[in-house]
Amino acid sequence: MSNEKKPTGFSTLAVHAGVEPDPSTGAIMTPVYMTSTYVQDGIGQHKGYEYSRSSNPTRDALEAAFAALEGGQHGLAFSSGLAAIDAVLMTLKPGDEVIAGDDLYGGTRRLFSTHYEPLGIQFHFVDTQDPANVAAKLNDRTRLVWLETPTNPLLRVSDIAAIAGLLEGHPARLAVDNTFATPALQNPLKEGADIVMHSVTKYLGGHSDVVMGALMTKDAAVDAELRTLQNNVGAIPGPMDCFLVLRGIKTLGIRVRQHCANGRAVAEWLQAHPKVDRVYWPGFSTFPNHAAAARQMQDFGGMISFTLVDDSLAASRAVCESTRVFALAESLGGVESLIEHPALMTHASVPAEQRASLGINDSLIRLSCGIEDAEDLIADLDQAIGA
Ligand SMILES: *Cc1c(COP(=O)(O)O)cnc(C)c1O
Repeated sequence: MSNEKKPTGFSTLAVHAGVEPDPSTGAIMTPVYMTSTYVQDGIGQHKGYEYSRSSNPTRDALEAAFAALEGGQHGLAFSSGLAAIDAVLMTLKPGDEVIAGDDLYGGTRRLFSTHYEPLGIQFHFVDTQDPANVAAKLNDRTRLVWLETPTNPLLRVSDIAAIAGLLEGHPARLAVDNTFATPALQNPLKEGADIVMHSVTKYLGGHSDVVMGALMTKDAAVDAELRTLQNNVGAIPGPMDCFLVLRGIKTLGIRVRQHCANGRAVAEWLQAHPKVDRVYWPGFSTFPNHAAAARQMQDFGGMISFTLVDDSLAASRAVCESTRVFALAESLGGVESLIEHPALMTHASVPAEQRASLGINDSLIRLSCGIEDAEDLIADLDQAIGA
């Protein structure tokens, strides 16, 4: 879009972000540039592209879209969410310290604990719902604070602006995994974060057909450092995947509205069900840190976890295995609704004591509400929980 037409609404932004008509043909969709290299007119005389690990026109369009969606100036695309997280961690050196949430995506926790901790980086896993727990671990060796909000799978909310405030004047960077909220609902850069990370595999792609990650930042120096790592390591997505995500992003605004409406309907229905014990959804006014969620998020999303009154593994397993609309699968954020069992599936790599202390018990079931009709989702859960 030209500058005179700068969009104000999120859906308008999502449809147009990063995408200019192709300069050579006017094609409204960015072509899939399936090329590894670019012919030079003379040595060093090229059109801005030399080799596709460094940059590719389809990926460039997507990276511009990523930046625009988060209100940043810079976007980077990676071959997975974990590759994006890894790029941030690679900026650290032995002796550096990281303060991270204690309820993180299982793979994030595994990367920190099994790879970076043995290299001499010290991690403090704290409950970031209370900024005081972050303040308590902050010292002159802290270089990174890693937040997830809402968290996976307990939907815990941390106040991004309050934690950013603690870091003012401190060299530590604040990175926020914004996968669950999506840029449609929450923009951590506007709350004071330095880096936003997404598992694009989830809502940004939105159709369960791509694995990809993203980093966004407002700071040119942070971007330059991360871009060098992206090129040095080469964990980049291919052009076809970039095209699929450019297409997926166009409907992000409308999809997230439906995810949120379904999330609310399902959460309220679960809350009233006699066989359901606890429902984890940040939209409830009684949910911990609901006020922070209401302030920093536009709406509360389609992710819900819940436990059953019968807290046996057999009971939660039976529910997970008897839904018909909700598919039993890991991952989330696609148009189709998914159900899964965190303790046995997505969070099996988190040590059992850690899971127990957080409340990721054998009864916990996680839902990703898709964009189907709410009545069908509720009828499906009704037959599965009632059986
Ligand atoms: C899935 C996920 C990741 C990891 O992303 P991949 O694309 O699977 O590598 C990180 N954080 C959160 C919150 C996730 O849900």
